[in-house]
Amino acid sequence: MAKVIPRPDLGVWERLYIGEIVKGLMTTFGHAGKALTNPAHFPTLQYPEQQPDIPRDYRSRHRLMKRADGSPRCVACYMCSTACPARCINIVAEESPDKHIEKRPVRFEIDLLLCVFCGYCVEACPCDAIRMDTKQAILVGGDRASFVADKAKLMDWEPKDYPADDIQSQKAPGGTLNAKALEELRSGSDH
Ligand code: SF4
Ligand code: SF4
Repeated sequence: MAKVIPRPDLGVWERLYIGEIVKGLMTTFGHAGKALTNPAHFPTLQYPEQQPDIPRDYRSRHRLMKRADGSPRCVACYMCSTACPARCINIVAEESPDKHIEKRPVRFEIDLLLCVFCGYCVEACPCDAIRMDTKQAILVGGDRASFVADKAKLMDWEPKDYPADDIQSQKAPGGTLNAKALEELRSGSDH
């Protein structure tokens, strides 16, 4: 049942609106004065020089996960590009020289201007080869080409920028678990 909210009775002064306008302007000028005298008081970022610190589980720009030897974990199965509703993942596969792996991507591109950041690609991947946890959600570029993330760009990340308990990141080159993972990879037990 609808709830009827009675209109408040306005006095003459309120009907003139002058007092309310003055009160509103005082609030506006009060904030403007604080912003000029104490900019740190406001949670305003000097974008794009300053970027917001977003949570790790926010769906941000993609990265391709790396094996201990630096090669991509991706096996070019096309499941991510098949699941992608925006059809913005372009993969070209080639045969892998590793006898444990059938294929690898020779080309892997994501057009970030078409991407809707739904995360379906991450969900579809059977081997945790693609993630959206880079914390880079603000994308800036001068032309369309700069928004196409290629394989090199997708693999350009450092384990030190990821949590110590993120095992797959720490197994990548430069990670805290890399030496052991490399040993396992060479002995063939990490496939
Ligand atoms: S986040 Fe969604 S739209 Fe973007 S590449 Fe992945 S599946 Fe496609
Ligand atoms: S990222 Fe994952 S789902 Fe996409 S092609 Fe590579 S292995 Fe397959």
